Formats: sequence, C-alpha cells, structure tokens
Amino acid sequence: MKTKVASPQKFVTSDERTIYAMCIEVFPGFYGNVYVIEGGPALTLVDTGSGMDACNEALIEGFASLEKSFGRKLELADIEAVVVTHGHMDHFGGLAFVRKQTQAPIGVHVLDRRILSHYEERVVVASQRVASYLDTCGLSEAARDRLLQMYRAPKVHYGSMPVDFLLNEGEAVIAPLPSGNIDLGLEVLHVPGHSPGLVCLRVDDIMLTADHILSRITPHQAPESITLNMGLSHYLESLHKIEKTVGIRLGLGGHEEPIVDVNQRAVDIADSHRARLDQVFDSCATPKSISGVGKSLFGSLHGYNVLLGLEEAGAHVEYLYQHGQLVAANLDEIEQGERAVLYHQAV
Ligand SMILES: [Zn+2]
Ligand SMILES: [Zn+2]
Repeated sequence: MKTKVASPQKFVTSDERTIYAMCIEVFPGFYGNVYVIEGGPALTLVDTGSGMDACNEALIEGFASLEKSFGRKLELADIEAVVVTHGHMDHFGGLAFVRKQTQAPIGVHVLDRRILSHYEERVVVASQRVASYLDTCGLSEAARDRLLQMYRAPKVHYGSMPVDFLLNEGEAVIAPLPSGNIDLGLEVLHVPGHSPGLVCLRVDDIMLTADHILSRITPHQAPESITLNMGLSHYLESLHKIEKTVGIRLGLGGHEEPIVDVNQRAVDIADSHRARLDQVFDSCATPKSISGVGKSLFGSLHGYNVLLGLEEAGAHVEYLYQHGQLVAANLDEIEQGERAVLYHQAV
C-alpha cells in the first residue's frame, strides 16, 4: 500500500513559486500525490488522480483544504494548464473530471501520449503483449487466465482525451492557453523505465520526481519485452540521469513523502536493483522460469501482486540476459515447439 502522508503541504521554490501538495486516495487504500504550481506563468496542475468517483471527490476536498490550511482559495476551475507525469491510471485517470471544470490544455510526454489519447487501443495491444509474456513465464493455464482476466478488468472507465501539448526534454514546455502560448517555466527530464514517457519536472530548485523516484519504495519495473522504453536498462540509466542533476533541494514524488536528498535516493534505488540482480543471478544457478525466479524473490504472492511480481522478476531476468549473464537453458525444447516456457540459467 502506498502510504498516506500529511496533506495538504506547501513548498516554496528558490524563485518564489509555490507548490501545493495534496495526498489523495487514488484507489481504495492506495494514495497518490497531486500538485498545483502557483506563482509562475500559469496555474498548473500536475497529475489528476485516478478518476474514480471517490478520488474525484478527494481531489475537490484537497483543493478546499488549501484554504483551510494556507488561506489560499483555489479550485479546479482556476487551473490553466494540466501536466501529466506519465500514463498510469492513478496519475491521468481524472483528466475527464478535471476537464469538466476547466478548459486547461493537457500536456504529456510523447511516449505516453497514446495512452491518454487512444486508451482503448492501448488496452487491447498491451493485454495481448502481457498474454504472450505470461505464456513464457511457466504458469499453470488456470493461473495465467486468472491473471489476464485481472489485467483486463477495467479499474476505471476512462474515455480517451486529446493531448494539447508535449513535454520534451531540453525544450520549453509551451501550453496553448486561450490568451496565447505560454511557457510554463518547467524543465523536463525524460526518465523512461517505470513507464515509457515518464518525466521528472524541475520547478526551480524543487523536482517533481513522479513515480521515477519515491521516498520509500522502489517503483515497479516491467520488462521491455512487454512495452518498449520500459525495462531495467532504461530505468537504471534514468536513475543515473537524476543522480547527476545538480541543484535539487527537494524532491516531491507521485506517492509518499517528500525526498530530502533526491540524488542519494537515486543511488540507493539503483543499489537495491543491483542487489536484486545478484539475487536473480544466484537463483538461476539451477535453470528457472520467470515464475520460479519470482517465487525465489517474493515467496508466494496473491491477487494482482502475482502479476506485478512476475513483471518485476522478468525485468531483472531481461536485464541479466541483455548483459550476457543468463542463457536460455532449454533452447532445443523451445525449438521443437514442445513448450513456450523459457528456462534461464546463470553463466
Ligand atoms: Zn503512481
Ligand atoms: Zn506509475
């Protein structure tokens, strides 16, 4: 469960911009942070929650709490631009609700744009890829079918939304407001891994780290064989990018508490993945399927966590395979078409 933290909170950047943080329950028992940036060229909302009814209400209450806590009366209708950090439902699912209150244009990185603008297509294509991934994992047919069913069950009804502007690293973020194009004064760092189009947003000396860097947990990883521009190779490179970034006083993540030392947290998360890579390597001293690797990492998991565990295990197996540390142990068998399950062995 991603933790509920103190809310609302207020932070002031080195250039006197204010960032309001609201922690809201995005799914039952699962919390996420939404941010409002004030004092720059346009009042900007960063992420929207999941779009579930209870979450939409929590978002409204979050705005109302700003007046109680800080004497600042703001509502969704005041928002002039919406920026989405990445294409996961807990971050963009509330777009339709937000757009009922404001005509603010929506921006996202190009690699996650289709998730927002062609969601129905995304669901079909992604579940087909997940299905063929699960075929290689070594599950019973019943377990595979159960997971697929869970994956396909819609958490929220999301109707696709057009995207109005794109977030590109190295370029100004320009939002098309009714009054004309406005530079939102955000610096974009593209950090693929947890999702293809994930961005960290620098607001002066504060970095909105989204789900790239969180204060407590290591953000979920899945293999690139399911979705391009995900996977551990991209993620570790993206952590290194943040590790090298200078002048960040504070990080504000998509979940959990503020991060006091973003650079160090990037190093710590990378270290924990290296330790896990060693664990996977050791467990493949005898040939293992992804399912077997998952069991050796996490023991037995239940419900949706089974799928998450298989993705996490697969991301590490894929990385070791890419780096020549694992080989396929049952090539002959696969070639003869007897079974599609791949067994991995350390070399
Ligand atoms: Zn998230
Ligand atoms: Zn995410």
